[in-house]
Amino acid sequence: MSEDFKKTREEWKKILSPEEFEICINHGTEPPFSGKYNSTKLDGNFKCTCCGEELFSSDTKFDSGSGWPSFWQPITDEKIEYIRDSSYGMERIEVNCKKCGSHLGHVFDDGPKPTNLRYCINSLSLKHEKDE
Ligand code: FE
Repeated sequence: MSEDFKKTREEWKKILSPEEFEICINHGTEPPFSGKYNSTKLDGNFKCTCCGEELFSSDTKFDSGSGWPSFWQPITDEKIEYIRDSSYGMERIEVNCKKCGSHLGHVFDDGPKPTNLRYCINSLSLKHEKDE
């Protein structure tokens, strides 16, 4: 996490909506099919809600049927922080924004070609570039 984006929980609470805070800072998960980007076909890049870093492109978005926006790769791997997550009795890989540490979602190995990866991302963790 870069120094510029280190904020306290209290500071994030003032900046984010309660729903964004729960997902991005408390590492929560929005209910499936609840997010605004689940089925969007908008062209362009999706940015980190917390720091604005461009994380995913519409070019790699696909309909996974999971109820969460799904991508088969990030814009670059360097933008993502990967953390082993053993919570809830599952072995998963959590993905966070490397720049600010905001929680994004998880990555699974059941995605489509060419990567066979499925980045399962909360809508609340993302802001489409056209939504600004
Ligand atoms: Fe970020």
